[in-house]
Amino acid sequence: MPDIHHPKRGSHGYSPRKRARAETPHIKSWPEGMDKPKIQGFLGYKAGMTHAFIVDYKTGSNKYPDPKQLRLMSLMTFAHFPEVNKIKAGLLFVMHNSFVTEEYERKDIDKSWDKFKGPLERLNNSYETNSWPPNYTPLCRYCPVKTCDFNQG
Ligand code: SF4
Repeated sequence: MPDIHHPKRGSHGYSPRKRARAETPHIKSWPEGMDKPKIQGFLGYKAGMTHAFIVDYKTGSNKYPDPKQLRLMSLMTFAHFPEVNKIKAGLLFVMHNSFVTEEYERKDIDKSWDKFKGPLERLNNSYETNSWPPNYTPLCRYCPVKTCDFNQG
């Protein structure tokens, strides 16, 4: 007796077909490794996901928040994920219950890179001349490098 053919039934998309409760993925189980390398997880993105979120958790003071780090992270994210066009980012000061937010768009990438031109040139110069002069900062008092002139320990 011949098989009866019919179109496949049901959705082949992600299930459940509704908005996720959170943007961050949750991995509920891991396969056993059995002493051999094995794929431990798989991350799926829905096509057309053009927004990303970056949160930098800070344990220090929120007196002088420095969103430059967020801008740098946004540039890395834009470079790594070409489908992302907009990023909402924030510095979350966990001890002070404050959240400093920023937004970045792909069209502003050049402007963002311009803000790092100076430090990048200094870094390149140091690399090419193999010269790494010490640079005093308030953190020098915690530094373990006793041979440095700026060390205050
Ligand atoms: S004390 Fe430490 S952190 Fe400060 S400039 Fe010297 S090496 Fe750098």
